[in-house]
Amino acid sequence: MKSRIYADHAATTPLMPEALEAMLPFLKDDFGNPSSLHGWAKPARKAVGEARATIAKCINAEPEEIVFTSGGTESDNWVVKGSTGGLMVSSYEHHAVLNAAESEARRERGVVYVRPKVGSGGGYIMPEKLSKAWKNGIRLVSIMTANNEIGAINPVHLLSEFAHKRGAMFHTDAVQAVGHIPIDVRTMGLDFLSASAHKFNGPKGIGFLFIRKGVKLNPLMNGGQQEDGLRAGTENVASIVGMATALKLNCDRMEENTSHLENLTLRLRDGIGRIFPDAVYLGDGAAGQLPGFTSVSFPGHPAEGMLHGVDLKGIAVSAGAACDSRNTQISHVLKAVNATDEIARSTIRITLGPENTEDDVGRIVSSLKIALGQ
Ligand code: PLP
Repeated sequence: MKSRIYADHAATTPLMPEALEAMLPFLKDDFGNPSSLHGWAKPARKAVGEARATIAKCINAEPEEIVFTSGGTESDNWVVKGSTGGLMVSSYEHHAVLNAAESEARRERGVVYVRPKVGSGGGYIMPEKLSKAWKNGIRLVSIMTANNEIGAINPVHLLSEFAHKRGAMFHTDAVQAVGHIPIDVRTMGLDFLSASAHKFNGPKGIGFLFIRKGVKLNPLMNGGQQEDGLRAGTENVASIVGMATALKLNCDRMEENTSHLENLTLRLRDGIGRIFPDAVYLGDGAAGQLPGFTSVSFPGHPAEGMLHGVDLKGIAVSAGAACDSRNTQISHVLKAVNATDEIARSTIRITLGPENTEDDVGRIVSSLKIALGQ
């Protein structure tokens, strides 16, 4: 029996063994509450402080600018709902931003949507798009660093510069990017950044929000004084430690991982080219695409059938957004880049990770070939 192949890293990633090791003491003997006044608190408090400093260093922030949350969805909701004034968001944001913005719109808050560049080489947003759609009163612009369905990377430094010139704050949902491409909150000009540990080999249910020093955001959660009174609730110590360990190791290994993933992606596309020359790629436009990311359409071959076909061979890929497998409608991301119904219905997402091998890629291509009836 051949081993299974996981090629759905944009949905979630395997927990790094080093992260698990680092977490274990806090699930066992060092179970203390960091806020307690006795000796049990000390190891937990120290570990949370160190994790905050580690995470801050990885993205060139200050430790006090990092607030722990339960993940990407919470961080996104917090920024959107905790801010005031008009909102500008892109139409291909994750639903954590889009649905939060819609809920704000129902409360009479103005929301302006901008679309990414359309077409197979598109999927990214330039400042001109923001300029064309601009309306007085916009106080927060939220554009993702990289899209979770097509992997396209945005020129965030240009977008934040534009927002600031118009007097608005800038938030980026960097859930797909943190730990995978270099992130520097200063050169990117960020006021807020959302991240989630399970996308970079950390545990699920933990993430963070970067809030630039001096910037005000209303708390989403009221209660105790944890996280400087900004996000109440006893800290998820073990997960915070696991997240910091995974992020640090991913940042240390980023160059090596990227070149490995670029090699695998080239091989994958080469293989696809041989079995299906008319395949259409999405999101690999001028602004770049996340390492290991392939969003590809096989016109005439519904994605669901292919997904099940490769699943029978023990291979996990996804169709559209895997975070939303119950939603069978055409993805809002593929609509935003103007993909035709035919292209959208036949698009699959193959997202490779550092543990994938050339042999895995060979097996993915062979399984696709069978699923395509070639
Ligand atoms: N934002 C993006 C771009 C994502 O890909 C995801 C993933 O599901 C989220 C937000 C939500 O993150 P979480 O699963 O940590 O709530």
